[in-house]
Amino acid sequence: MAKILIVEDNALNIKLFCDLLAAHGHQPEAVTDSRNALDAARAFDPDLVITDIQLPHVSGLDLIRLIRKDDDLSRVPIMAVTAYSARGDEERIRAAGAQAYVSKPISVVRFAETVDELLKSDAEGPKDPEPDAQLKSDEPEIDNPESRANQVDEGPGPGEAGGEEDA
Ligand code: MN
Repeated sequence: MAKILIVEDNALNIKLFCDLLAAHGHQPEAVTDSRNALDAARAFDPDLVITDIQLPHVSGLDLIRLIRKDDDLSRVPIMAVTAYSARGDEERIRAAGAQAYVSKPISVVRFAETVDELLKSDAEGPKDPEPDAQLKSDEPEIDNPESRANQVDEGPGPGEAGGEEDA
């Protein structure tokens, strides 16, 4: 069992993430207002932080940077979850200090695998993240109207067309 802090402004995603994590035997705690996230993290002392990127007030990228600079939290693994997957997003998220990146709508299997990998890497010390952590597979996906509404209309999913590849 691991303590996992979720920073997410969407209630449906909070419920989804909490249910998934609890089903895997973890202890999730959610913060909806990112202005409270750093204090909540210090109090909760999580083994993993999962943060949305599109957050009002303090963005997910800024929150990741704040956690990395915090004396008590700097070594906590961070997994970013974002509805946008524009070219360069993953690099920005990793440069800010997150170890992993999962696109919404999330794949339940990918989400759980990434959580497991980060909790393992926490025990073993820092290591390189999986290079393909954001790739979609053909697993079933959880979808909900809000996360779909948040998503830029980008035509066929990344798994179906590689049209964004050329610079
Ligand atoms: Mn959001």
